[in-house]
Amino acid sequence: MSRLVTIDDALSLADHIVAKRKDVLNAKINRYPKSAFTCSDINECDRYMIHSLLDWDKRELHDTGLQAIFDAGNKEEESVKNRLGYELGLEFVEAQTPFEIKNRSGETIARGKIDGKILWNGKAIPIEIKSMNENSFNMLNSLEDFNKKPLYRKYLRQMQLYLYGNNQEAGLFILSNFRTEKLILVTLDYGECEYVLSRLERLWEMKKKGIYPEANYQPHLCDRCPFASLCLGDVINKPADLINNELLEEKLQRREELKPLKDEYDEIDEEVKATFKSIPHAFVGTSFEIIGTERSRTSVDAKAMPDDLRKQYEKKSTFWVSKIKKL
Ligand code: SF4
Repeated sequence: MSRLVTIDDALSLADHIVAKRKDVLNAKINRYPKSAFTCSDINECDRYMIHSLLDWDKRELHDTGLQAIFDAGNKEEESVKNRLGYELGLEFVEAQTPFEIKNRSGETIARGKIDGKILWNGKAIPIEIKSMNENSFNMLNSLEDFNKKPLYRKYLRQMQLYLYGNNQEAGLFILSNFRTEKLILVTLDYGECEYVLSRLERLWEMKKKGIYPEANYQPHLCDRCPFASLCLGDVINKPADLINNELLEEKLQRREELKPLKDEYDEIDEEVKATFKSIPHAFVGTSFEIIGTERSRTSVDAKAMPDDLRKQYEKKSTFWVSKIKKL
């Protein structure tokens, strides 16, 4: 007869699993020296790019939750390859193909890799597999959609640099929601490549001279930046005031509780609006009416300006940064 399992036995097993899992994830979290920019991590902040090379050893380590997501992404990459390979008979070659980007002086200024290539009609089609949650998966339906968030814009730059560096006209993103795949064609965009390359060359020269561009606080980048304490140190590390105010504390607590809902709202809002793009008038069931209009606005494409011209129009303004961290 098997021995009686008590609540304590079950709880002790649960505690063991949680602690061990954390240990396993923690063991994978590390920093690595970087001698050139990484094509999959071309951040929109110039200062981040310099920190990433000169201060790689001070980069804030990510947490176990994010490591678990990275692990799941790596496993999913293999699953996608198996699904397409074994089930559809497609052949993947050159897995994790490395590539380098050199500047005019022949120095390697960036390194990257893509997930591999699929042999098709005697040619090897470049493939990059990205796994993501359901909301993101539903939101990304065209290359344009990749421009909606900093993370997806990084995916675009990575693929563009690969195509450029390897003299290829096109490749495919394979997006996965961990169940099925969505294929998105990527075509070489020379204009975008030239812009990214000249930016990398400029940043490379700054890195060689140890010059950091000025910090420009942008919440969508800085709030998740692993160099924030280094970069915004003055803001974050000043001796703190102690404020005893229960109402304020309650509001901060409520703010934390609402944050995931706001993030979910933003994702769903984008996804829903993308669905109704180009639809002037629609009803959804009996509960919703959607009215769409095309509007235009004129703006200056600062990216297209030569650096020296853009500098003439730069203006400095001051702002206050409140970075709120739950203890
Ligand atoms: S904290 Fe902000 S300004 Fe500083 S490096 Fe990071 S993204 Fe750039």
